Amino acid sequence: MRALRRFTVRASLPDALTPLSQLVMNLRWSWHPETRDLFEALDPELWASCGGDPVTVLGEVSAERLATLAKDRKFVRRLTDVVDDLDDYLAAPHWYQSLPDTAPKAIAYFSAEFGITEVLPQYSGGLGILAGDHLKAASDLGVPLIGVGLLYRAGYFSQGLSADGWQLEHYPALDPHGLPVKLLRRSDGSAVVVTVPLPEARTLHAHVWRAQVGRVSLLLLDTDIEENTPAERGVTDRLYGGDEDHRLRQEMLLGIGGVRALREYCSITGTPAPEVFHANEGHAGFQGVERIRELTETHGLSFNEALQAVRGGTVFTTHTPVPAGIDRFPRALIERYFAGFGVPVDRMLALGAEADPTKFNMAHMGLRLGQRANGVSQLHGDVSRGMFGDLWPGFDEPDVPISSITNGVHAPTWTARELVEMGTQSTSQGDPVDVDGPVWFDGVDRIPAGELWTARRMLRGRLVGEIRRRLRETALSRGASVAEVGWTDTAFDPDVLTIGFARRVPSYKRLTLMLRDPARLKALLLDPERPIQLVIAGKSHPADDGGKQLIQQIVKFADDPEIRHRIAFLPGYDIGMARYLYWGCDVWLNNPLRPLEACGTSGMKSALNGGLNLSIKDGWWDEWFDGQNGWAIPTADGIDDADRRDEIEARGIYDLISTQVLPRFYETDRDGVPTRWVEMVKHTLKNLGPKVLATRMVSDYVQQLYVPAAVSARNLAGDGYAVARTEANWRQHLLEHWGAVRVAHVEATGAGDTPEIGSTLDLRAEVELPGLSPADVEVQAAYGRVDDADGLHDVTTVPMQLETTEGSRHWFTATLPLERTGAFGYTVRVLPHSSNMADPAELGVVSVA
Ligand SMILES: *Cc1c(COP(=O)(O)O)cnc(C)c1O
Repeated sequence: MRALRRFTVRASLPDALTPLSQLVMNLRWSWHPETRDLFEALDPELWASCGGDPVTVLGEVSAERLATLAKDRKFVRRLTDVVDDLDDYLAAPHWYQSLPDTAPKAIAYFSAEFGITEVLPQYSGGLGILAGDHLKAASDLGVPLIGVGLLYRAGYFSQGLSADGWQLEHYPALDPHGLPVKLLRRSDGSAVVVTVPLPEARTLHAHVWRAQVGRVSLLLLDTDIEENTPAERGVTDRLYGGDEDHRLRQEMLLGIGGVRALREYCSITGTPAPEVFHANEGHAGFQGVERIRELTETHGLSFNEALQAVRGGTVFTTHTPVPAGIDRFPRALIERYFAGFGVPVDRMLALGAEADPTKFNMAHMGLRLGQRANGVSQLHGDVSRGMFGDLWPGFDEPDVPISSITNGVHAPTWTARELVEMGTQSTSQGDPVDVDGPVWFDGVDRIPAGELWTARRMLRGRLVGEIRRRLRETALSRGASVAEVGWTDTAFDPDVLTIGFARRVPSYKRLTLMLRDPARLKALLLDPERPIQLVIAGKSHPADDGGKQLIQQIVKFADDPEIRHRIAFLPGYDIGMARYLYWGCDVWLNNPLRPLEACGTSGMKSALNGGLNLSIKDGWWDEWFDGQNGWAIPTADGIDDADRRDEIEARGIYDLISTQVLPRFYETDRDGVPTRWVEMVKHTLKNLGPKVLATRMVSDYVQQLYVPAAVSARNLAGDGYAVARTEANWRQHLLEHWGAVRVAHVEATGAGDTPEIGSTLDLRAEVELPGLSPADVEVQAAYGRVDDADGLHDVTTVPMQLETTEGSRHWFTATLPLERTGAFGYTVRVLPHSSNMADPAELGVVSVA
């Protein structure tokens, strides 16, 4: 028989130990080693057997053991210390508290997944882990962020393997009562229930669970409650499962239900209302629609006026460099779901309009609802400006208003404790980030090479132990008998160069590229003098049989008794396993099809532990590879034949390993230390360390996006939203008249027939603005290098000054410096101008001479 429901009966805590329940409910333990030590001390065996899950330990530790500990004065003192430390962490002013008060009072951060700890499996991969790291770093910096997401009752899936190497998916049912989350309740004790309207006058209900991530609260909506019919209860069953209808309901819950949950949360806890709303990827886009609906209802704004007000305070981050990866719904589905929602359906549909008139595009909606938008690395910013350029017709790619902030990772979560303790980073793990700045790496130089190398070897050894344990478990689960798994005891070697490759398995990540030349790979693995060992992990989306085939190929290759002690595919990639990999791998391999990796973060985590990246120059590596922190695999950009490209790039990997990586690793001094390798490790820690931090990323978000968005939002809301109203009406008026805006004539004087460097050029432009005034526009002279087809490059723009006006005709002038030799070109363009615009391209209109 199977149980219908499960729950955990906890021993009640003796008085002296009650602070343990406070500790367990704040997920800061997931990155704070001293708190974990304390949980481990409750019952070391139980701690090990449940994989370091404090909720389980606290739920299952015996009453006798607790009674003993309550009388153990040393333990109680330790407990008090840890609790005091948490209280300090939560209360002390951090970096954010030193900012001027233009900084937002609160920021809402929406994401479909959050990866904070393996104990709360609400993530599938990079997007979720990034969101988790964003919250943790916000907490460290004192940023008043509130996370909003969904509580999936089966999370993503846990991965197993069949005997023949096929991915098996299990969906373990999560009981929220066994998770470190608390139900959001009103002061009268009743649980908060938020609702979202569905078609046919049905209603979706959800409870709100609150997880505490240091100082940051995370609200997770859960539809598995009695108020719902069975169909609706299943809305939050799994992450990225189900059909379009299911996904739309999830996204409506996340966006609309999420805003409603936030309003409840703020009113119950007295938290200021968020001034900035950050949508992490398109899934969360409906939050903007709900806020528009709110404003039309509470302040009587029109859709357009509310849109202005909402946009000002909205930040949208895109993570998808592939059009096929964008979330889209049939337009008809949106029409059906939003018919009775409370905003004009045609306006709603226009937000998600794209080239295909039958589709509603969530990324396009994100861009139209967010006055500020960004990609997640410089290269991805470029790609995004190209990919979404159609939304700003008339503008060149560099002018498309999508910026970039390169992702980062949360150092205390991902760095091996031993490295921090030996001084690779200045703050101890999980300490509050003081107002002077986050984490420093200048102690690296003081660590003797031999000591650093010993630590690296220890971490490699720990990884080898974990690989053996997992290999054994996997072999048994795939049907091997105990008598057949003895080989796992000696698989892998703590002294062999260890290469890691772990990530989700969409085709662009090319899981099997390393198998391109099996004989060559085998030779590298079995080299008698200087072998490599390779550890691989990753999940394929359950609906992606192609991905599962790739996994099967790897598994079959690694099953070969001749090489299975040097190459392993480990099922069950999650945060818990990933940490061993980042700690212990010497080289982190990444070979995506450039430029399809928006950023990639696993290599950053490896770098924080002194791992050297061996990667295609894609995402973050394109930006920060410096010749001494690892190796760049040469790309065959421009070769369209995928097979040839794979061939060339795979050869590049083998060549780099044999000619660069291996010699460095195995060339040691008299004390057995590979000095040149350790130099690269130190260089990586010192130079990449400060860049890859999530605290750097979050402070970039704060300064470049959150603060300006808060200023815009406040301004637009001023005087009962009068500014938003005026702005909306101005924009409408401007767009109605834009068709007639024209640069009628441009004349240049001053430079003579043969202009010389250092001279100037006087421009005078006649501009027609029927129905508009010169104050409505900015007239710009744009100049730069010019190519054979008269295309302008490295463009500089200068505003032109109004000289005279005659009716609707106006003359503008500017003086251009001629600072460069060679072919030079210029033009004149007219752009809308208002102090409420964040970018001149924002309205998507321009008139060029
Ligand atoms: C960091 C991380 C990812 C994302 O890594 P990418 O390099 O972006 O693919 C995925 N899963 C886990 C468990 C991670 O720790």
